[in-house]
This record gives sequence, C-alpha cells and structure tokens, in this order.
Amino acid sequence: MILTGDYHTHTKYSHGKGLVIENAEVAYSKGLKEIAITDHGFSHPAFGLRKRKLSSLRKDIDTAKEKFGINVLMGIESNLLSDKGDVDLKEDNYDKFDLFAVGIHKFVLYKPKGVFNIFLPNFFTSTFNGRPSKSLVKANTLAFTNAVKKHPIDFITHLNYCCYSDAVEVAKVCADYGTFLELSGKKEHLTKDELYLVAKTGVKFILNSDAHTIDRVGDIALANGLITEGVISKEQIVNIDGKTPDFRFKNYKLKGI
Ligand SMILES: [Zn+2]
Ligand SMILES: [Zn+2]
Repeated sequence: MILTGDYHTHTKYSHGKGLVIENAEVAYSKGLKEIAITDHGFSHPAFGLRKRKLSSLRKDIDTAKEKFGINVLMGIESNLLSDKGDVDLKEDNYDKFDLFAVGIHKFVLYKPKGVFNIFLPNFFTSTFNGRPSKSLVKANTLAFTNAVKKHPIDFITHLNYCCYSDAVEVAKVCADYGTFLELSGKKEHLTKDELYLVAKTGVKFILNSDAHTIDRVGDIALANGLITEGVISKEQIVNIDGKTPDFRFKNYKLKGI
C-alpha cells in the first residue's frame, strides 16, 4: 500500500514545528504526489492560523510547489464550535483555501452553548477517563452531522479523539454528503470494533499523518495496522495506490455542489 498524498500536516503557522517548504520537501522525498498544509482554525487563541498571515502562507505554498513539482494544497483544520455545526471557516474565506478539514479541539472559542455541552464535558470526560453521558454523545454527534450537512467539508479529522460521538451516525451522514473520515497516523481515535461498524456504512476514508514535525510527514503507520488487519479495506481509502481524492470542497467551489 502506497500513500498518494498526506492531507493533514501542520507548520509554524499554527501548532507545527516546520516550515511549509520543509513539509513539502519531506513529502517529495517520500514520493507523495500531494501534500496539504492544514493549520489550526482561526478560533484557537494560542495556536490558530491568523487571517493576516494568509497571503504569506499562500506565497510559501506556491514557492514549495514550484521547487518540488508536487501539488501543495492550502488547507485548514477548522474547529467545530457548537452542536448546530458552526465552524470557524466561513464562506467569505473559502476563496483563500483549497481544502477544508474539520475537527473537535480543546480550548478554542466555542459558541457560548458549545462551552457547556461540548467543550467542558468532553474535556472532563477524556481527562478523567469517564463514561460519556448520553447528552454529551448527542451534542457531539449533532455537531459533526450538522457541520457535514451545512458545509462542504472534505474530511473529519481524528473522529472521537478526546470527544464522544455516535461514530456510525456521523459516518452515515459523511457517506451521504461525500465527506471523508480520517484515519489518523498520529492518534488512536476509534476502536477496531467501532471502525468495523463505521466501515459498513460505506463511508470513504482518508489516511493522514497529522504531522506537527517534519519527520512525521507521510507517517501513517498507526492507521496502516488497521488496514493490514482487515478492519478497513483498501477499496474504501481514497488516497493510496495512485488514487487522489475527489474532494467535496473543490467541487463545491467549482460547481456549487
Ligand atoms: Zn486536530
Ligand atoms: Zn491536526
């Protein structure tokens, strides 16, 4: 199994350690055809991508593309902010980006209700290894499913890492809307049993490193194990063995669908 592109990597523009050109160089040296730079969304006070840096990020991406001759996409790992599916990438900034990923993260500027029904209960339940309440699972599930229904999201990052949703329900909606589910090379986020059920919905998966350091670009070893063990079939993965994903956000921008 050969990775075609790594669509989730970070740089110094948010929480990563490397430069755009360094991530691209590693991607090139590992034989990838594409790489996306997906720094954290604007609503993260400490690590978020800053809007004033967007033109500089685009310049860095163009330089890297030219130097290595591989496709470098300007993406964002947007934050979910409420159970209504609010996210921190708004339509007026769509033209700045090539790729739209979304995930749940701690310590971002949630909508007021999201602080109480998503952020705090996720934080305390994951920190103290507690059992998630039904209302927490419902709020997280609604956050993901409403977001996928409302916005042209390419993929959900590390579903259920430090948060608790009904993964099968989320996967069904993703399958219906053409949003992929990420299998993370960095974080264990779904159990094998959950993944088995999730895969049965017919949802497509995308394998990504979530690299925060340049040495990890293209590293999907963690997810690799799940495929070799037969939990997920290769046919359901959109970015291996020469395949490049048909991304929803790009299609939305081109055709409005
Ligand atoms: Zn993330
Ligand atoms: Zn990330």
